[in-house]
Order: sequence, then structure tokens, then C-alpha cells
Amino acid sequence: QSVKLIVGNWKMHGVSADVSEALALKEGLAGAPPSCRIALCPPATLTDRLRRVLADSAVEVGGQDCHEKASGAFTGSVSADMLADAGATLVILGHSERRAAFGETDADVAAKVEAAMAAGLEPIVCVGETLEQHEAGQAVAVVSAQIAGSLPDGLSERDFAVAYEPVWAIGTGLTPTLEQIAEVHAAIRTAMIQRLGEPARRAPILYGGSVKPDNAAEILAVPEVGGALVGGASLKADDFLKIVHAA
Ligand code: 13P
Repeated sequence: QSVKLIVGNWKMHGVSADVSEALALKEGLAGAPPSCRIALCPPATLTDRLRRVLADSAVEVGGQDCHEKASGAFTGSVSADMLADAGATLVILGHSERRAAFGETDADVAAKVEAAMAAGLEPIVCVGETLEQHEAGQAVAVVSAQIAGSLPDGLSERDFAVAYEPVWAIGTGLTPTLEQIAEVHAAIRTAMIQRLGEPARRAPILYGGSVKPDNAAEILAVPEVGGALVGGASLKADDFLKIVHAA
């Protein structure tokens, strides 16, 4: 069983006062070295602050999105190089909130993944079906198409991860059954190998969507679940530590 990757996505939450949660996480891990790999993805404004606070800890810092270009006249955007410069080692790309609210297509996500690769950031590529698609029995078809379109050539030579986040499970307290998670993760693995070949077997597939301290252990024990992408429960160090310890 390989090491799990536990990633906290703070979304658009977090001001300087919340750096204390990252400090509490670091202190909470001090006595007992974690058996998993851990990262926090704060708003871009806090990347450098968290990198400093988390220095001398095993916790990495990541971004939540990046522009597909390295620099240029793109008012308001942050590039992968800028995130890397601020201390990020990974970046979440193609989150369903970006796909839905900002109209990101699979091709847009693939371009951002290429930018992340060029900047030396490890991409975490998100896929997941909506409630309507779930109820129509289309989860496997939807995520397979997203994988085919969102993973660029050459990615298999790099470290990367995929995150399965059913849209209807995000922030709702609802989760798929463990059988459904196993089925979709297996389908994602198949689609990854079809797209990138055998080396894609190495990349972890995280589950995300209402991961909490009380369901983390059973979800993380499902075959092909290589970690968790945690939203709300990553904002408080106590909750996030419990999830880390469940891994
Ligand atoms: P919640 O854990 O709050 O459901 O959010 C999941 C998510 O979208 C992480 O990227």
C-alpha cells in the first residue's frame, strides 16, 4: 500500500489570522510523524505565508488554480511559475467550481496542466459528475471523458495526481457509497492508462467531497483511493489532523 496524499483545499477562505491553523497543524504533527504526504492549498495570497510557517515540517503548500501562460497581460491571474516562486509544490487544476463558475473546459485544464508541468508543479487534476449525471448513471462516462480531455501528453513522465470529486458530494455532507467510489476510481484508472499508458498506474487517485474525520478511514481504505482532497474539514487543524491520522 503506497503512501496516501492528503490535500486540504481552503478555497476562498483564509486571511492572515488563519495562518494559525497551519501552525496548529504543524504542531499537531510534531510528535507523531505522519504516514502520509500532506499539503495545504490556501488562497494564492497566503502561499508564501504558509510556506514560511510550514518550513521544517512535512506539510507542502499548493495552489488552487493557475493561468495557462507563465506571464503576460492577464489582469488578475496568477501563473504556475508565480505559485512555484511563492513556495508551492503542487496545484489543484480543473476543480468543478472552476469548471462550473469559470467555464473551464477539458482543453483549458489540459493547458493549465502543461503550465504546471513547465513550472515544476505537481498537478492535481479534478474530475467528477454532477447530480444530474450521477442520477442518470453517467458517472463513469463523464469522468472517463474528462480524463481523456484533461491530461496532456507527457504527463505520465511526471508526478501528478487525479482527484475524483462528485459535484453533488462537495460541501453537502453527502458521499457516494464505498462501492460507487471503488467503481469510479477503477474506471478513472482505466481511463488514465488508456490516455497515458502504463506509467499512469503510479499516479494516486484522490477522493474528494465531504471527507470528514468520521468517514475518512473507510473512504481511504477503498481500493484505488490514494488519498483525499478535503475542503471544509481542512480549514480547522483539529479536523484535518484527524483525517491525516485516518490515512
Ligand atoms: P468539501 O470537503 O467541503 O466537501 O469540499 C471538497 C472539495 O471540493 C475539495 O476540493
